[in-house]
Amino acid sequence: MQVGLDFDNTIACYDLVYRAIVDEKDVVPSGTPANKTAIRDFLRAAGREDEWTELQGYVYSEGMTYARPYPGVADFIATCRSLSIDVSIISHRTRHPYAGPKVDLHAAARSWLESHAIVTDGESTLTHDLIHFEVTKSDKLGRIADRSCRWFVDDLPEFLSDPGFPASTRRILFDPHNLHADGSESDTFHRLDSWDRIKTHILDEVNSK
Ligand SMILES: [Mg+2]
Repeated sequence: MQVGLDFDNTIACYDLVYRAIVDEKDVVPSGTPANKTAIRDFLRAAGREDEWTELQGYVYSEGMTYARPYPGVADFIATCRSLSIDVSIISHRTRHPYAGPKVDLHAAARSWLESHAIVTDGESTLTHDLIHFEVTKSDKLGRIADRSCRWFVDDLPEFLSDPGFPASTRRILFDPHNLHADGSESDTFHRLDSWDRIKTHILDEVNSK
């Protein structure tokens, strides 16, 4: 049995990165709400789209210093490993930012996974061969199919609703801020707001077999 996990905004939480951008970088007024939408909307409205594009490169490289794993994700991985449920990370991330310094965004994510002990050589964590950074959405869908994931967890309803999504994979929407509606039909996705709930959901299904 295999469970696939998205990376950005599913494992890695960027809330503190946006907080640091508002507090420490001189790009938006200090009262700007510390989230992606507010910062992007401010820069767009000010005709500074290029700065927003460059800022995205910062968020997914150097800015990752401020990113934190969502609570419960390490425990989820450890629990799956202890029950012989295979876990892999399957993410869509460009290799380099669209603007700004040409850093390796895949290497930045891998090094973040090591620094937060999600990738180690221990038995309750992951190894690098289980981490897949794909450069297109269709490659990500292909990888989920290749690995025959029984479940896939992602923060984007539009990705989980993609017509190309493998039909045999059960889809879980990770929605920690309760921003989205439940899946419109039972064959789309199951929406859950924490890793503890995702763990319970998957284990209930495993145990009901
Ligand atoms: Mg994501």
